[in-house]
Amino acid sequence: MKKDTPTHLIYPTDLLIAQEMVQGEGAAEPIFNPATGEVLCLVHEASAQQVHKAVEAASKAWGTWSQTTPAERSQLLLKLAQAIEDNATQFARLESLNCGKPYARALEDEIPAIADCFRYFAGAARCMNGSIAGEYLAGHTSMIRRDAIGVIASIAPWNYPLMMAAWKAAPALAAGNTVVLKPSEQTPLTALLLGRIAADILPKGVINVICGRGASVGQPLVEHAQVRMVSVTGDVSTGRKILQAATGTLKRTHLELGGKAPVIVFDDVNLDDVVAGIRTFGYYNAGQDCTAACRIYAGAKIYDKLVAELSCAVSTLNMGTQDEDGVELGPLISERQRNRVASFVERAQMSPHMEVTTGGKMRPGTGYFYEPTVIAGALQDDEIVRREVFGPVVSITRFRDAEQVVGWANDSDYGLASSVWTQDISRAMRVASALQYGCTWINTHFMLVNEMPHGGLKSSGYGKDMSMYALEDYTVPRHVMIKL
Ligand code: NAD
Repeated sequence: MKKDTPTHLIYPTDLLIAQEMVQGEGAAEPIFNPATGEVLCLVHEASAQQVHKAVEAASKAWGTWSQTTPAERSQLLLKLAQAIEDNATQFARLESLNCGKPYARALEDEIPAIADCFRYFAGAARCMNGSIAGEYLAGHTSMIRRDAIGVIASIAPWNYPLMMAAWKAAPALAAGNTVVLKPSEQTPLTALLLGRIAADILPKGVINVICGRGASVGQPLVEHAQVRMVSVTGDVSTGRKILQAATGTLKRTHLELGGKAPVIVFDDVNLDDVVAGIRTFGYYNAGQDCTAACRIYAGAKIYDKLVAELSCAVSTLNMGTQDEDGVELGPLISERQRNRVASFVERAQMSPHMEVTTGGKMRPGTGYFYEPTVIAGALQDDEIVRREVFGPVVSITRFRDAEQVVGWANDSDYGLASSVWTQDISRAMRVASALQYGCTWINTHFMLVNEMPHGGLKSSGYGKDMSMYALEDYTVPRHVMIKL
């Protein structure tokens, strides 16, 4: 693979407001490379006036954008998808530098899925259908329309900055809404590049990109009277704050919050497949993934072997900086996040019934690296089983039977993703139907496709990303009745 050297990279730092690239007028935020701790550049956050200007531009653009045909919007989204592919190395380089991700993973896994997200919604917007028109009251014909909502505030997290921007912006735009996108203050670079590219493709004001912290920029954006819906991916506590802020103007909300995915491994599995699966899906993106395979429940007969073989496999994971040969996982996003992960493991180590069978340490030297870790002997009530760590840490708990493990799996505040591993397909289907999770994988984990919905239950939030269900979320059904 040809590597795109970062030496000549220009960091996009300007916001996109009403088709103009402008510097933020607020405080400067240092943007770090988590693999070295170095500051890559400074991005100034939007001032209160700039937040208002972005929303006004989106509001003004909505009048005409919402009246375009699905085919017209589709063509522009296809152009945007192509432009993302044409700039794939630059996007991947920025994402990898800003998040610490292995460059190859950003380029080969994320960018194609992001371009495909825009392509999917370009097509999906032309395929929406609905209930039949008819005479439900004598002498009157009723029909249902599905219309765009208005200005959407799209608020994204730091773990997959461009992918989360795509999951939010693509269905919103395809449905005829306009967008003010606010990436995480820690990882704004790819969203800013997206803004710069979109400015040449989409009409003025259809998408605006503003940066800044939750309190100073996110909150006023959510509270703005002209914003009709807020879509956020982030922490549960952020979801709560945003819900509260949205009540003032009774906005629609679309929440994608955390997760703590149970992985149920029955005794009859092919152990090699399970070990390979958890080695990959528990530690991808350094475990900073709301669907990470992090809460393992192992059948009593297979438990010891799984602990031994998984610990051995995880100890071979190749942790390193973005361009190291064969690198599989990078650092955590920040010093703060690494300390948070370390504190979870330290507390677990204080309990005599748990054992760290591999990892469990920060890597000395520069960068925010934390060793991929397995904690065996965890019990259902342990913090490590109940709370989202959002790092490369997997716990293993022994279970007795299907009834017990389904009860434990569902005994969680979260409800985003889950998986069941067994060769007995009837058992897999029974367990899948009993699990209270937005997604259940069978004999795999983590696989997402743009055609299928992603979203949670309980504290993981509500609202679906990807699929036709996202188009439904970003539109509103309306009744039109004609007196004959
Ligand atoms: P975060 O909650 O700190 O921030 C998310 C976004 O919300 C950021 O852009 C932030 O600036 C903004 N924000 C924070 N406070 C705000 C406020 N009061 N008003 C408006 N905006 C505000 O989350 P994070 O640390 O960036 O991301 C990690 C979290 O995201 C994890 O908990 C993870 O589980 C969750 N996540 C969920 C999904 C999913 O699909 N369910 C996907 C990725 C990440």
